[in-house]
Amino acid sequence: MSQKLNFSLPLPFIDLASQQKRIRPQVSEAFQRILDHGSYIMGPEVFELEKKLSQFCDAKHTISCANGTDALALVLMAKDVKPGDAIFVPSFTFAATTEVVAWMGATPVFIDVLKETFNMDPSSLKQGILKAKELGLKPTAIIPVDLFGAPADYDALESIAAENNLWILADAAQSFGATYKKRPVGTFGIATSTSFFPAKPLGCYGDGGAIFTDNDELAEKLISLRIHGQGKDKYDNIYIGMNGRLDTLQAAVLLEKLKIFPEELLSRQNAAVFYHKALSSLVTTPFLLPDTTSSWAQYTLRLNSTISRDKVVHELQNQGIPTAIYYVKPLHQQKAYQHYPTALGHHLPNSESLSKEVLSLPMHGYLTEDVLHFITKNLIHLLSSPSK
Ligand SMILES: *Cc1c(COP(=O)(O)O)cnc(C)c1O
Repeated sequence: MSQKLNFSLPLPFIDLASQQKRIRPQVSEAFQRILDHGSYIMGPEVFELEKKLSQFCDAKHTISCANGTDALALVLMAKDVKPGDAIFVPSFTFAATTEVVAWMGATPVFIDVLKETFNMDPSSLKQGILKAKELGLKPTAIIPVDLFGAPADYDALESIAAENNLWILADAAQSFGATYKKRPVGTFGIATSTSFFPAKPLGCYGDGGAIFTDNDELAEKLISLRIHGQGKDKYDNIYIGMNGRLDTLQAAVLLEKLKIFPEELLSRQNAAVFYHKALSSLVTTPFLLPDTTSSWAQYTLRLNSTISRDKVVHELQNQGIPTAIYYVKPLHQQKAYQHYPTALGHHLPNSESLSKEVLSLPMHGYLTEDVLHFITKNLIHLLSSPSK
């Protein structure tokens, strides 16, 4: 491995620098225009972005907002979620999915995920609904997460929702740009939320988020809630809302990034194919449902139990290859959330075992074949060496 490399080490886990280099002149010009017009809050770029995002994902309405957490919270506020309501969330996710439920005083009920897809397990969801009823809670809504960029099994979840009179809010913070059976992310449930945090597939240069919905009344209420529940003007308050706006500067960044997003999605897909071909005989590579595409927010492997994950992480780091573990601990085992109910008993076996097995490799739209070759060669060497 002493041959000269045409890239520098350590590698970035997500290469925002290469992307910025590509769009920097356009972003600078857009910033200049905003400095000139001075509409830092709800400037024209915000509304232009909302229009472009709606076109991109076939949603009737896009309501941009301050971040992906507010996007979730605004929908729960709009639906008047309240104490006594049971909201079903996967345990194997980022804390924001659950945090917003607790904000409303409602009860998150933790559901297990499927080992193959990392996403909500429909049979565990059925158990969770029974559990909520046993506890005297009102089964109200499901928040499926499209973990690592791959959509959850919406056909299965929607039929359980319909049988039980529940609504769905899709947490697509990681999956904007993906599709499920030809339906783009943004068209699921009563609303879909996403995040534009810099490391997400479509990210800005700060915090940002959006909600997508086809429902006119819901959209109208969300638009009001995002600006302090305003009515006909700023000083007319018809709901208890929040300050949940997206900055004009962030909208301008997103307008430039959206132009190159389809190309980046293709490049991520090609990287995923490369990883799969190189690694699928040694580890469990990600599995997609039929007729589904991922935006590959993460490329997450499941290591075999005979291999120490710590060792793999450490050795790769020594070679200049960063990795990440999403998530080290499922939410039902976190101090802040462990008192909330789980679907069955106190354990969610798949969430618990996945948290010990998973490992995410560098994933972004600027991985060259040379870099992919370097990463996989090192990993294969490690995994096939006898000293495990
Ligand atoms: C990132 C993320 C969020 C929150 O998005 P922010 O913009 O960081 O508030 C919510 N849910 C999931 C699954 C996420 O990955």
